[in-house]
Amino acid sequence: MPYKDKAQAASNDKAYRAANKAEIDAYQKAYSTANKAEITARVKAYRAANKAEIAARVKAYAAANKALVAAQQKAYHAANKALVAARNQAYRKANPIAVRATHQRRRGHKRNASGHCTAEQLKGRIAFFGGCCAYCKSPYAHIDHAIPLSRGGSQWPANLRPSCAPCNLAKHARTWREITL
Ligand SMILES: [Zn+2]
Repeated sequence: MPYKDKAQAASNDKAYRAANKAEIDAYQKAYSTANKAEITARVKAYRAANKAEIAARVKAYAAANKALVAAQQKAYHAANKALVAARNQAYRKANPIAVRATHQRRRGHKRNASGHCTAEQLKGRIAFFGGCCAYCKSPYAHIDHAIPLSRGGSQWPANLRPSCAPCNLAKHARTWREITL
């Protein structure tokens, strides 16, 4: 006969689990070992199908538990220094433009600059100049602000251009027009 009282059913269930904890744990462990590939595939499929929802949940959790998440991250980094460094390095190597876009965003944020540029947009800007310095056509090394941030320049893609190191450093906080005129 089914339980009519939900609370009673939950309490019975809890009592059963408490009394048979070792047995249940062993059963679950055996099940996961025997069905590893299937479980991994199921988790992967679930993650792929619910990407946006999971990202939103992670974000909400991080926002609600800022101090806890920061402490956890700090502890993880401290315990896995070499691993984190290797992973970061691999990411930087594989995504150089995304890394630049993030760097630009941080710089702009510090200066309260208006506008923003995604990695895709930055890629577009670099491609627009043929992957070369916008000023002298040597290979680019920096991302230059046509109007410098220190002079109120924005982070919009139109204000960003690839530049070689000598051009970028020579230009510094001036506009290119001020140098060439
Ligand atoms: Zn140059």
